[in-house]
Amino acid sequence: LVALSRVNKHFGALHVLQDIDLTISRGEVVVVIGPSGSGKSTLCRTINRLETIDDGAITIDGKPLPQEGKELARLRADVGMVFQSFNLFAHKTVLENVMLGQIKVRKTDKKQAEEKARALLDRVGVGTQADKYPAQLSGGQQQRVAIARALAMDPKVMLFDEPTSALDPEMINEVLEVMQQLARDGMTMVVVTHEMGFARSAANRVVFMADGRIVEEAVPDQFFSNPRSDRAKDFLSKIL
Ligand code: ATP
Ligand code: MG
Repeated sequence: LVALSRVNKHFGALHVLQDIDLTISRGEVVVVIGPSGSGKSTLCRTINRLETIDDGAITIDGKPLPQEGKELARLRADVGMVFQSFNLFAHKTVLENVMLGQIKVRKTDKKQAEEKARALLDRVGVGTQADKYPAQLSGGQQQRVAIARALAMDPKVMLFDEPTSALDPEMINEVLEVMQQLARDGMTMVVVTHEMGFARSAANRVVFMADGRIVEEAVPDQFFSNPRSDRAKDFLSKIL
């Protein structure tokens, strides 16, 4: 579904992505872990073209990423993204947040968009909050709205960049549970996270990055019990 081939990117002198080869199949859940600054966010952001690449290729369904205009807006709908900071529209209600993209990008009519938004808000457990503004919700609720908003676009793949890092501990699980359910429902997902419990239980594959490279890729059991590289061993010894 998603394929990165020999992808390279620099920020000035910093070689932030180095010869990244990664393919993600339909329905697969890939968890990306690695030290701070290793390029995990940048990797995610290249997949929906929030960042350009210097060379290599990225395809979705075999097609190269569009460069601009309506095609780019459609790409961002096809590739849903959930950030650490929830990035909801502050001056729109929860319901409007989840309706907006459907109307603007997918050209869904208003009534249908509202029905779908309400169903999705129910699905992530915030149906009763529909008429509030984001600031009136807890962090965990806001993040679940952000997930519903991305899902409203019927994405082919969902990218999560540390979706629970900004949350108070008691709200982390409610967001992880929504993600677990999404994984069980067969959504294709790329998840950058430090939540190793989630990685163990939801991931089909763990990708370990360091210094802009994919150092190791393995199924979770194998990665956590028997990491091959010294970098991964060192990283795991610090976080587990
Ligand atoms: P973290 O775990 O801290 O979120 P990360 O693995 O997500 O780290 P990235 O955010 O991808 O890392 O950043 C990789 C490197 O690129 C870092 O050294 C960062 O400072 C640098 N970087 C990221 N974005 C930019 C930018 N827009 N301009 C210049 N340098 C950047
Ligand atoms: Mg990051």
